[in-house]
Amino acid sequence: MLDRISQKFSDLFRSVSGNNRITEQNVRDVVQEIKVALLEADVNVRVVRRFVNRTLEDATGDAVLRSVSPGQMFTKIVHDRLVEFLGDERQDLQLKGPDTVSPILLLGLQGSGKTTTAAKLAARLSREGRKVLLVAADLVRPAAVDQLQVLGERIGVAVHVVDGARDPVAVAKAGLKRAKKELYDTVIVDTSGRMQVDAALMKELQAVKKVVQPVESVLVADSMTGQSAVDIAKEFNEQIGLSGIILSKFDSDARGGAALSLKTITGTPIKFIGVGEKTEDLEPFYPDRIAGRILG
Ligand code: GDP
Repeated sequence: MLDRISQKFSDLFRSVSGNNRITEQNVRDVVQEIKVALLEADVNVRVVRRFVNRTLEDATGDAVLRSVSPGQMFTKIVHDRLVEFLGDERQDLQLKGPDTVSPILLLGLQGSGKTTTAAKLAARLSREGRKVLLVAADLVRPAAVDQLQVLGERIGVAVHVVDGARDPVAVAKAGLKRAKKELYDTVIVDTSGRMQVDAALMKELQAVKKVVQPVESVLVADSMTGQSAVDIAKEFNEQIGLSGIILSKFDSDARGGAALSLKTITGTPIKFIGVGEKTEDLEPFYPDRIAGRILG
Protein backbone atom coordinates (compact mmCIF):
# COMPACT_ATOMS: atom_id res chain seq x y z
CA MET A 1 0.00 0.00 0.00
CA LEU A 2 1.10 3.55 -0.68
CA ASP A 3 3.83 1.91 -2.75
CA ARG A 4 3.98 4.29 -5.62
CA ILE A 5 4.08 7.48 -3.61
CA SER A 6 6.58 5.97 -1.20
CA GLN A 7 8.94 4.91 -4.01
CA LYS A 8 8.78 8.37 -5.48
CA PHE A 9 9.60 10.00 -2.14
CA SER A 10 12.58 7.79 -1.44
CA ASP A 11 14.02 8.55 -4.86
CA LEU A 12 13.58 12.26 -4.26
CA PHE A 13 15.14 12.26 -0.83
CA ARG A 14 18.10 10.24 -1.99
CA SER A 15 18.87 13.14 -4.30
CA VAL A 16 19.09 15.70 -1.47
CA SER A 17 19.90 13.83 1.73
CA GLY A 18 23.49 13.01 0.73
CA ASN A 19 24.29 16.67 0.07
CA ASN A 20 25.95 18.79 2.70
CA ARG A 21 24.76 21.89 0.97
CA ILE A 22 21.50 22.45 -0.81
CA THR A 23 20.24 25.61 -2.43
CA GLU A 24 16.82 27.13 -2.38
CA GLN A 25 16.48 26.00 -5.98
CA ASN A 26 17.20 22.38 -4.95
CA VAL A 27 14.39 22.59 -2.44
CA ARG A 28 12.03 24.13 -4.96
CA ASP A 29 12.81 21.41 -7.48
CA VAL A 30 12.15 18.62 -5.00
CA VAL A 31 8.97 20.26 -3.73
CA GLN A 32 7.80 20.51 -7.33
CA GLU A 33 8.35 16.78 -7.72
CA ILE A 34 6.58 16.07 -4.43
CA LYS A 35 3.67 18.06 -5.80
CA VAL A 36 3.52 15.84 -8.89
CA ALA A 37 3.81 12.69 -6.74
CA LEU A 38 0.93 13.82 -4.52
CA LEU A 39 -1.27 14.64 -7.50
CA GLU A 40 -0.47 11.26 -9.04
CA ALA A 41 -1.46 9.69 -5.71
CA ASP A 42 -4.89 11.28 -6.18
CA VAL A 43 -4.50 13.70 -3.28
CA ASN A 44 -7.03 16.52 -3.42
CA VAL A 45 -5.63 19.48 -5.34
CA ARG A 46 -6.40 22.00 -2.56
CA VAL A 47 -4.59 19.80 -0.10
CA VAL A 48 -1.59 19.54 -2.42
CA ARG A 49 -1.43 23.31 -2.79
CA ARG A 50 -1.48 23.81 0.97
CA PHE A 51 1.10 21.11 1.46
CA VAL A 52 3.45 22.67 -1.09
CA ASN A 53 3.09 26.20 0.25
CA ARG A 54 3.65 25.18 3.86
CA THR A 55 6.65 23.03 2.99
CA LEU A 56 8.26 25.78 0.92
CA GLU A 57 7.71 28.31 3.70
CA ASP A 58 9.44 26.07 6.22
CA ALA A 59 12.18 24.63 4.06
CA THR A 60 13.58 27.59 2.16
CA GLY A 61 14.70 29.61 5.19
CA ASP A 62 18.33 30.06 6.21
CA ALA A 63 17.86 27.77 9.20
CA VAL A 64 17.47 24.84 6.85
CA LEU A 65 19.70 25.83 3.96
CA ARG A 66 22.65 26.76 6.20
CA SER A 67 22.30 23.89 8.64
CA VAL A 68 24.86 21.10 8.89
CA SER A 69 22.52 18.51 7.44
CA PRO A 70 19.97 20.36 5.34
CA GLY A 71 18.78 17.19 3.60
CA GLN A 72 17.79 15.61 6.91
CA MET A 73 16.09 18.77 8.08
CA PHE A 74 14.16 18.94 4.86
CA THR A 75 13.07 15.32 5.20
CA LYS A 76 11.87 16.05 8.73
CA ILE A 77 9.87 19.05 7.54
CA VAL A 78 8.12 16.95 4.91
CA HIS A 79 7.52 14.17 7.45
CA ASP A 80 5.96 16.61 9.95
CA ARG A 81 3.75 18.11 7.23
CA LEU A 82 2.55 14.64 6.23
CA VAL A 83 1.73 13.84 9.85
CA GLU A 84 -0.17 17.09 10.15
CA PHE A 85 -2.19 16.43 7.00
CA LEU A 86 -2.92 12.86 8.11
CA GLY A 87 -4.43 14.26 11.32
CA ASP A 88 -1.58 14.70 13.89
CA GLU A 89 -2.40 12.58 16.93
CA ARG A 90 -4.03 9.17 16.96
CA GLN A 91 -7.76 9.66 17.56
CA ASP A 92 -9.61 6.83 19.25
CA LEU A 93 -13.36 6.32 19.57
CA GLN A 94 -14.84 8.35 22.42
CA LEU A 95 -17.07 5.88 24.20
CA LYS A 96 -18.73 6.17 27.58
CA GLY A 97 -18.06 3.92 30.58
CA PRO A 98 -19.57 0.43 30.93
CA ASP A 99 -22.48 1.52 33.15
CA THR A 100 -24.31 3.15 30.26
CA VAL A 101 -24.91 2.41 26.54
CA SER A 102 -22.61 3.93 23.92
CA PRO A 103 -24.31 3.80 20.51
CA ILE A 104 -22.09 3.88 17.43
CA LEU A 105 -23.65 4.67 14.05
CA LEU A 106 -21.83 3.14 11.10
CA LEU A 107 -22.45 4.87 7.79
CA GLY A 108 -21.29 4.37 4.24
CA LEU A 109 -22.19 3.64 0.66
CA GLN A 110 -22.87 0.13 -0.61
CA GLY A 111 -19.70 -1.80 -1.16
CA SER A 112 -17.62 0.49 1.05
CA GLY A 113 -17.12 -2.39 3.49
CA LYS A 114 -19.59 -1.14 6.10
CA THR A 115 -21.05 -4.48 7.19
CA THR A 116 -17.64 -6.15 7.34
CA THR A 117 -16.33 -3.19 9.32
CA ALA A 118 -19.25 -3.37 11.77
CA ALA A 119 -18.14 -6.91 12.62
CA LYS A 120 -14.45 -5.94 12.77
CA LEU A 121 -15.22 -3.13 15.18
CA ALA A 122 -17.50 -5.33 17.28
CA ALA A 123 -14.77 -7.98 17.51
CA ARG A 124 -12.21 -5.41 18.53
CA LEU A 125 -14.37 -3.73 21.18
CA SER A 126 -15.47 -7.03 22.67
CA ARG A 127 -11.81 -8.12 22.84
CA GLU A 128 -11.25 -4.94 24.84
CA GLY A 129 -13.88 -6.13 27.30
CA ARG A 130 -16.93 -4.22 26.11
CA LYS A 131 -20.30 -5.91 25.87
CA VAL A 132 -21.32 -5.31 22.27
CA LEU A 133 -24.64 -5.65 20.44
CA LEU A 134 -24.73 -5.35 16.65
CA VAL A 135 -27.94 -3.99 15.14
CA ALA A 136 -28.83 -4.98 11.58
CA ALA A 137 -30.46 -1.81 10.26
CA ASP A 138 -29.19 -2.04 6.68
CA LEU A 139 -32.46 -3.07 5.11
CA VAL A 140 -31.55 -1.96 1.59
CA ARG A 141 -28.84 -4.39 0.53
CA PRO A 142 -30.63 -7.76 0.44
CA ALA A 143 -27.84 -9.86 1.97
CA ALA A 144 -26.67 -7.38 4.61
CA VAL A 145 -28.78 -8.73 7.50
CA ASP A 146 -27.75 -12.37 6.88
CA GLN A 147 -24.13 -11.33 6.42
CA LEU A 148 -24.10 -9.53 9.77
CA GLN A 149 -25.68 -12.54 11.48
CA VAL A 150 -23.05 -14.89 10.07
CA LEU A 151 -20.23 -12.55 11.07
CA GLY A 152 -21.72 -12.03 14.53
CA GLU A 153 -21.82 -15.75 15.12
CA ARG A 154 -18.24 -16.09 13.97
CA ILE A 155 -16.95 -13.46 16.41
CA GLY A 156 -19.32 -14.37 19.23
CA VAL A 157 -21.21 -11.07 19.27
CA ALA A 158 -25.02 -10.88 19.48
CA VAL A 159 -26.83 -9.41 16.49
CA HIS A 160 -30.22 -7.75 16.83
CA VAL A 161 -32.37 -8.68 13.84
CA VAL A 162 -36.04 -7.95 13.24
CA ASP A 163 -37.44 -10.50 10.81
CA GLY A 164 -39.16 -8.96 7.81
CA ALA A 165 -38.38 -5.44 9.03
CA ARG A 166 -38.84 -2.54 6.65
CA ASP A 167 -38.27 0.45 8.85
CA PRO A 168 -34.65 1.01 9.90
CA VAL A 169 -35.70 3.58 12.51
CA ALA A 170 -37.87 0.99 14.26
CA VAL A 171 -35.08 -1.59 14.11
CA ALA A 172 -32.58 0.84 15.60
CA LYS A 173 -35.02 1.82 18.35
CA ALA A 174 -35.71 -1.81 19.23
CA GLY A 175 -31.99 -2.59 19.23
CA LEU A 176 -31.28 0.18 21.71
CA LYS A 177 -34.14 -0.87 23.92
CA ARG A 178 -32.78 -4.40 24.01
CA ALA A 179 -29.28 -3.11 24.77
CA LYS A 180 -30.55 -1.21 27.82
CA LYS A 181 -32.59 -4.14 29.04
CA GLU A 182 -29.85 -6.72 28.57
CA LEU A 183 -27.09 -4.42 29.84
CA TYR A 184 -24.98 -4.11 26.73
CA ASP A 185 -22.60 -1.15 26.96
CA THR A 186 -21.93 -0.73 23.22
CA VAL A 187 -24.34 -0.82 20.29
CA ILE A 188 -23.09 -0.76 16.72
CA VAL A 189 -25.82 0.10 14.25
CA ASP A 190 -25.15 -1.02 10.66
CA THR A 191 -27.15 1.37 8.49
CA SER A 192 -28.27 1.28 4.87
CA GLY A 193 -26.10 2.41 2.00
CA ARG A 194 -26.80 3.18 -1.64
CA MET A 195 -24.70 3.07 -4.76
CA GLN A 196 -24.32 6.83 -4.38
CA VAL A 197 -25.29 9.63 -2.01
CA ASP A 198 -28.94 10.53 -2.56
CA ALA A 199 -31.62 12.50 -0.77
CA ALA A 200 -33.63 9.44 0.32
CA LEU A 201 -30.58 7.86 1.95
CA MET A 202 -29.67 11.05 3.79
CA LYS A 203 -33.22 11.45 5.05
CA GLU A 204 -33.27 7.88 6.32
CA LEU A 205 -29.91 8.22 8.04
CA GLN A 206 -30.89 11.49 9.68
CA ALA A 207 -33.98 9.79 11.10
CA VAL A 208 -31.94 6.82 12.35
CA LYS A 209 -29.39 9.15 13.92
CA LYS A 210 -32.14 11.00 15.74
CA VAL A 211 -33.36 7.90 17.56
CA VAL A 212 -29.92 6.38 18.11
CA GLN A 213 -28.29 9.54 19.53
CA PRO A 214 -24.86 8.09 18.80
CA VAL A 215 -21.72 9.00 20.72
CA GLU A 216 -19.83 8.21 17.50
CA SER A 217 -21.03 8.61 13.90
CA VAL A 218 -18.44 6.86 11.82
CA LEU A 219 -18.23 6.78 8.04
CA VAL A 220 -16.72 3.73 6.37
CA ALA A 221 -14.96 5.09 3.28
CA ASP A 222 -13.37 2.94 0.59
CA SER A 223 -9.79 4.17 0.26
CA MET A 224 -9.46 2.66 -3.21
CA THR A 225 -11.93 5.21 -4.56
CA GLY A 226 -9.52 8.09 -3.79
CA GLN A 227 -11.04 11.51 -4.46
CA SER A 228 -14.52 10.13 -4.54
CA ALA A 229 -14.14 8.84 -0.96
CA VAL A 230 -13.28 12.39 0.04
CA ASP A 231 -16.34 13.85 -1.73
CA ILE A 232 -18.57 11.24 -0.09
CA ALA A 233 -17.12 11.99 3.35
CA LYS A 234 -17.70 15.70 2.84
CA GLU A 235 -21.32 15.05 1.91
CA PHE A 236 -21.98 12.75 4.88
CA ASN A 237 -20.31 15.17 7.25
CA GLU A 238 -22.40 18.09 6.04
CA GLN A 239 -25.68 16.19 6.04
CA ILE A 240 -25.37 13.73 8.91
CA GLY A 241 -22.38 14.94 10.94
CA LEU A 242 -19.41 12.65 11.44
CA SER A 243 -17.11 12.12 14.41
CA GLY A 244 -14.72 9.76 12.65
CA ILE A 245 -13.82 7.85 9.52
CA ILE A 246 -12.74 4.27 9.03
CA LEU A 247 -10.74 3.94 5.85
CA SER A 248 -11.45 0.47 4.46
CA LYS A 249 -9.43 -1.54 1.94
CA PHE A 250 -6.24 0.27 2.89
CA ASP A 251 -4.40 -2.97 2.09
CA SER A 252 -5.36 -2.64 -1.57
CA ASP A 253 -4.73 1.10 -1.86
CA ALA A 254 -1.46 1.76 -3.66
CA ARG A 255 -1.85 5.53 -3.74
CA GLY A 256 -2.98 6.78 -0.36
CA GLY A 257 -4.67 9.89 -1.75
CA ALA A 258 -7.79 9.59 0.39
CA ALA A 259 -5.77 9.16 3.60
CA LEU A 260 -3.87 12.35 2.88
CA SER A 261 -6.91 14.44 1.93
CA LEU A 262 -9.70 13.36 4.29
CA LYS A 263 -8.77 15.21 7.48
CA THR A 264 -7.98 18.49 5.74
CA ILE A 265 -11.08 18.50 3.54
CA THR A 266 -13.64 17.20 6.04
CA GLY A 267 -12.08 18.13 9.39
CA THR A 268 -12.95 14.60 10.54
CA PRO A 269 -10.19 12.30 11.81
CA ILE A 270 -9.48 8.84 10.45
CA LYS A 271 -9.76 6.54 13.47
CA PHE A 272 -9.11 3.10 11.99
CA ILE A 273 -8.00 1.46 8.76
CA GLY A 274 -9.34 -1.76 7.28
CA VAL A 275 -6.45 -3.90 6.12
CA GLY A 276 -8.11 -7.06 4.81
CA GLU A 277 -11.32 -9.02 4.53
CA LYS A 278 -11.13 -10.91 7.82
CA THR A 279 -12.77 -9.74 11.04
CA GLU A 280 -9.41 -9.12 12.73
CA ASP A 281 -8.20 -6.89 9.88
CA LEU A 282 -8.82 -3.54 11.54
CA GLU A 283 -5.99 -1.36 12.83
CA PRO A 284 -5.87 1.95 14.68
CA PHE A 285 -4.81 4.79 12.39
CA TYR A 286 -1.51 6.36 13.43
CA PRO A 287 -0.65 9.44 11.32
CA ASP A 288 3.08 9.29 12.15
CA ARG A 289 3.40 5.64 11.17
CA ILE A 290 1.65 6.23 7.85
CA ALA A 291 3.86 9.27 7.21
CA GLY A 292 6.89 7.08 7.95
CA ARG A 293 5.63 4.48 5.51
CA ILE A 294 5.09 7.10 2.81
CA LEU A 295 8.64 8.40 3.25
CA GLY A 296 9.96 4.83 3.11
P1 GDP B 1 -21.14 -2.92 2.46
O1 GDP B 1 -22.00 -2.98 1.23
O2 GDP B 1 -20.58 -1.55 2.66
O3 GDP B 1 -21.77 -3.46 3.68
O4 GDP B 1 -19.83 -3.78 2.09
P2 GDP B 1 -19.29 -5.20 2.62
O5 GDP B 1 -19.00 -5.15 4.07
O6 GDP B 1 -20.17 -6.29 2.13
O7 GDP B 1 -17.88 -5.22 1.87
C1 GDP B 1 -17.75 -5.18 0.46
C2 GDP B 1 -16.51 -5.98 0.05
O8 GDP B 1 -15.33 -5.32 0.51
C3 GDP B 1 -16.48 -7.38 0.64
O9 GDP B 1 -15.99 -8.26 -0.35
C4 GDP B 1 -15.48 -7.25 1.79
O10 GDP B 1 -14.82 -8.47 2.08
C5 GDP B 1 -14.50 -6.22 1.22
N1 GDP B 1 -13.77 -5.50 2.27
C6 GDP B 1 -14.28 -4.80 3.32
N2 GDP B 1 -13.28 -4.22 4.04
C7 GDP B 1 -12.11 -4.56 3.44
C8 GDP B 1 -10.73 -4.25 3.70
O11 GDP B 1 -10.35 -3.54 4.64
N3 GDP B 1 -9.82 -4.78 2.83
C9 GDP B 1 -10.19 -5.56 1.77
N4 GDP B 1 -9.22 -6.03 0.97
N5 GDP B 1 -11.47 -5.85 1.48
C10 GDP B 1 -12.43 -5.36 2.31
